[in-house]
Amino acid sequence: MKMDAKFIEDRKVALEKRRDKILKELKADAVQVAENDYDAKFVDYGDKDDENAAEVATFEKNLSLEKTLEVSLFNVNRALKKVEEGKYGLCEKCDGPIQPKRLEAFPSATSCMKCKKKSL
Ligand SMILES: [Zn+2]
Repeated sequence: MKMDAKFIEDRKVALEKRRDKILKELKADAVQVAENDYDAKFVDYGDKDDENAAEVATFEKNLSLEKTLEVSLFNVNRALKKVEEGKYGLCEKCDGPIQPKRLEAFPSATSCMKCKKKSL
């Protein structure tokens, strides 16, 4: 099944917007160590015990945020690559079309609802 070109173009725009937003957030809370690889930022508040505790808390927060963002970025880039390859909107598991409603809600979805449910 061939996807509507306009629909794909709209998803591409949504994906690029999402990518820019993720990159912005990553730059605020993480340090880029390589292409598409980021490390959480370690903040230095001071040397007192409570300051050290706050540093660790912030680092842990940044670390989990950074991981989430990195995974999102990976998925968005993968979806954009599929757009380029003309494979966007096809389920990676069964090769069937992914429901347009699902792609509207999650432009970076790589599997259809049926396969997604099976893998859960
Ligand atoms: Zn599927």
